[in-house]
Amino acid sequence: MILPILQYGDPVLRAKGKPIEAIGDRIRELAENMIDTMHAAHGVGLAAQQIGKPLQLTVLDVSAVEDRPSTLKLDGKDTDPKAAMPLVLINPEIELRGETEVGIEGCLSFPEITGDIERAQSVTVRAQTLEGEIIQIEASGFLARAIQHEGDHLNGILFIDRMRSAAKAALSSRLRRLQKETKRGIRHGEELVTETTL
Ligand code: ZN
Repeated sequence: MILPILQYGDPVLRAKGKPIEAIGDRIRELAENMIDTMHAAHGVGLAAQQIGKPLQLTVLDVSAVEDRPSTLKLDGKDTDPKAAMPLVLINPEIELRGETEVGIEGCLSFPEITGDIERAQSVTVRAQTLEGEIIQIEASGFLARAIQHEGDHLNGILFIDRMRSAAKAALSSRLRRLQKETKRGIRHGEELVTETTL
């Protein structure tokens, strides 16, 4: 099922996600719906906050990205990133590794807005899967960037918070407009439904 994606200005995007204590059918269904929603929107990642649920849950799929390489080690083993997608991360603990690099990012909650963001080149992640198993991930390149972007969402942090101040200032009128439209609850003539409980 495809869910509505919350846009900038919705307070749920600023909420820190609650840890998921029990991985049951409800969480599995939510994760499946988030994957469907991410694919339908041609996104590479989606956090639970973006569909109105402040939980420690994010989904990723970088397999359609050809021009920005990624590497992945899953439980210590070199893995083709494409073969591991879509990736569901529950209660992820993310550690930043290596140097930083600047790269362009967008966000499904900020239509048509992109910006250069400085991120660590690599990350290590410990997370739970939908089966409740603990996985260890070492990622670099684009996947590491996507994981950091989604990890930020789970803590109520948005990519505009990490933009250089001049870049953010240049976007300020567009951001204000988007915020206003969201607050009015009107985007593309549809009503945004925000549900904050689970
Ligand atoms: Zn985002």
